[in-house]
Parts: sequence; structure tokens; C-alpha cells
Amino acid sequence: MDIKKNDKFVITIEDMSEDGAGIGKLDGYIWFVKDALIGDVIEASAMKMKKNYGFARLVKVLEPAPGRVEAKCPVARACGGCQMQELDYAEQLKFKENKVYNHLKRIGGMEEIPMEPIIGMEDPWRYRNKAQFPIGTGKDGQPIAGFYAGRTHSLIPVPELDCLLGCEENKDLLRVILDFMKEFKISAYDENLHKGLVRHALLRKGFSSNELMVCLVINGNKLPYAEQLVERLLKLPMNVASISLSVNKEKTNVIMGTEIINLYGPGYITDKIGNIEYRISPLSFYQVNPVQTERLYGTAMEFADLSGGETVWDLYCGIGTISSFLAQKAGKVYGVEIIPEAIDDARANAERNGIKNVEFFVGKAEEVLPEQYEKNQVYADVIVVDPPRKGCDSVCLDTILKMAPKKVVYVSCDSSTLARDIKYLCENGYEVKRVRPVDMFPMSGHVETVARLDRK
Ligand code: SAH
Repeated sequence: MDIKKNDKFVITIEDMSEDGAGIGKLDGYIWFVKDALIGDVIEASAMKMKKNYGFARLVKVLEPAPGRVEAKCPVARACGGCQMQELDYAEQLKFKENKVYNHLKRIGGMEEIPMEPIIGMEDPWRYRNKAQFPIGTGKDGQPIAGFYAGRTHSLIPVPELDCLLGCEENKDLLRVILDFMKEFKISAYDENLHKGLVRHALLRKGFSSNELMVCLVINGNKLPYAEQLVERLLKLPMNVASISLSVNKEKTNVIMGTEIINLYGPGYITDKIGNIEYRISPLSFYQVNPVQTERLYGTAMEFADLSGGETVWDLYCGIGTISSFLAQKAGKVYGVEIIPEAIDDARANAERNGIKNVEFFVGKAEEVLPEQYEKNQVYADVIVVDPPRKGCDSVCLDTILKMAPKKVVYVSCDSSTLARDIKYLCENGYEVKRVRPVDMFPMSGHVETVARLDRK
């Protein structure tokens, strides 16, 4: 191959990577091109070359793919938040379905896959109930709110402060925050120098309650003139129910600090999924797409197919959202989660909703479950797991095999580790009965999947 850095060449995109980058081949050499779509013929410019593959930049679309649409957001390409805005939503759903299918086939070694159609959104915009805007300083020295460009930490200002995946109110909340900073000369944080005060604005909305949360993450112990900010936020024609500060003085890319200083309200907002009400504090994990969360949990419930008396384990339970859904149809539910604060929320939420048949354990699933099994010979009719991207620990899977529940319901945010874990369970006495992807993150390459396995 005689292409050098910055050389331009024409290439047809034939495939798409995990994260939605276009893949094409030229003389047997593989090119990854961000923002290029399957079916596009493009002009590309070489950026970085490895032995067997390289990365190129999309210069110009010469012949657009059938699914190519114009991005709604003017910074869709530069911003790291969206990967698929230029692909028609129906095509995005197909891409995600294929991704799950291929993982189950290639990694999971499955021959026949009982795939059910992906659950997409009717309106794939403004679905996020949470946004974390990094705050920085613009070229004119004034504070700006933005998002990081893909893979880097350079700040792309949000056009008109309005990200189309977030709720309409964010724009006005950000406007008030930035104007306040400008007027009172409050500095934005600079990551490189580890100086300046305001790092991030965390904004959340309860979609069913319409309550809004504002939490400013600061590199300091206090925000000067905080009462002015509170007064201005409360004047907005919307229900700002909680205002707080999160202290984060560390040199880190972790967004939130652990100390919360309350400025207004009870320290949390409330929201409902289905008929269950949740308390959400600034540090709580809570699914970001409430419309699809209800469908995701609904699918998990349908797959668990409970009749009333079952004993169910909900591993990686977070604030106990799936647990409380399950509890309405089970005899007893046990939840396990590694973050103690999440379990505090889980217990408070169960009490708030009058759910009595749940019990929560703090700890690693791969430690709590074996311990309970060996010490107390605990039992399970159904085990639900919803692990982070890396999937289940092998000790956890081995304990599930020992406990031999009739059904395992696997909720997954990464279908490659789902496929790996399914393979192991299937080699040891289980078979996959149902699989259904759910699109929780339109415009991104991510997809959630629910799978049900039965003991043979
Ligand atoms: N089921 C919940 C949360 C899923 S996210 C919901 O739908 O809201 C995955 C959760 O697993 C996170 O809350 C994370 O803190 C937790 N976690 C990560 N590793 C864990 C482990 N080894 N054992 C138990 N929980 C873990």
C-alpha cells in the first residue's frame, strides 16, 4: 500500500464498526472512517496507519448511502455525543439488530438465534433525562457550555445551548448559569491547569414529575454569590426542585465529587417508571432514557414470566429499579449491588412504594452470591443480571450454574460480553429461548439487549 498520511483516496464503505465508524477496503487494506456510512462512496484522507488497518477522515461524500440523512445538529460530527445522526433512524435500528445478531453468532457460537424485533423509539430525540455539560472558557474569555469532541477533551460549544438529545429546559438552565458566571466573574475550570471553579453542570429532569435538578460541580468548597444563582434559577417558568453543588477538587476525569452541598430543595427529585416512584439524588445511578427504560424493564418482566411465588435474585441492581418491578409479581426478591449509596436509595425506594418482599445486599455479585449460597443455601427460581459492559464475573456465572435456577434473564448493555456469558451458560446446561434488543440510546452506537435462558 502506498498511501501516506494526508493522501486522499476514494473508497466504498461496506461495513460499520462497533461504534458506528464506516469500514472500507482498498487493495486488501482496511480503512476505518468516522462519519462514513455503509453504502457511501467517499473521498477520504489518511490519518493514521497501522500494519493491517488505518484510520481516515471523511472529506466528501461522493455518492451517499441510501440511509444517509442530514444531521439535525450542526456539530453532530465533531461532538463525541452522537455517532449516528447521519443515518436514518430505521437504519440505525437495523444496524443495532445486526450487531446483536452477529455477536451472538460469532462470539456466542449460536446457530439458531430466537431474535425478536428491536424495540425502537417513536420519537428518537430529546429522550435523555440527564445531561452533564462540561463548562469551559470560550475564545472571547467568556464561560461556555459544551461537550467533548470524540476521544479528546477539547470542548465543542453546544449550539444555542440546545442539545437535541436533552430536554428543552436545559437551554434556559444553562443560559442562567452562564450569565450568572459572567456577571459575577466566576471562572470556569481549566483541566490542563487544574484551575478555575465551575467544572460541570449536571441537569436532570423527572419526565413524569417535571421536576428539575441543577447540580454544579465545583473545584472548591463554595460558590460565591450562590444565593443569586438560586434566585435566578427559581425565577424560571419551570419546576426547579433541587439545586446543589458537588465538590470535586481532584485532578481527574471523573465528573462528580462525593461531597454534595445542598443549596435549595430536599436534595433530590422524584420520578416514576411505570407505577413506581423513585427518589433521585445527584449521585444516584438512574437510567437516562425513561421511555425506553419502561420498555426494557417490561421486556425483562415478560421474559422472567413470574407467576407470584418465585424467589428471584436481581444481580447488579443499582437503586433497585428492576427489583421493585419484579417484586410486584414474585414471592421474594433479593438485590445485590456494589455501591452502598445505591443500596441506600434502593431501600428508601422500596419503603416509599410499600414494597416489602425485597431485601438488598451491598457487595460484589461474585462475592455476595457464593457467600449466600454456601452459608445460607439460598435458592433461586429466576436470576436476573444487569451487569456493566464487562459482563458477569466467572465466579458469578459459576454460582448461577450451581444454584441452577429455571430461568436466567440477562439484561446487557454490551452484546459482545452478553454473547460470551451466554456461551458459557449454554455449555453448562442452559438454552437461549428469547432475545430482544432495546434501543435506549438513539443516535449512538450503543444497544441494550434482554435475553432469556432456560435450564434444559
Ligand atoms: N439494574 C440497574 C443498574 C444497572 S447498571 C438499573 O437498571 O438501573 C449496573 C450496576 O452494576 C451499577 O449500578 C454498578 O454499580 C453495579 N456493579 C458493577 N459491578 C458490580 C459487581 N461486581 N457486583 C455488583 N454490582 C456491580
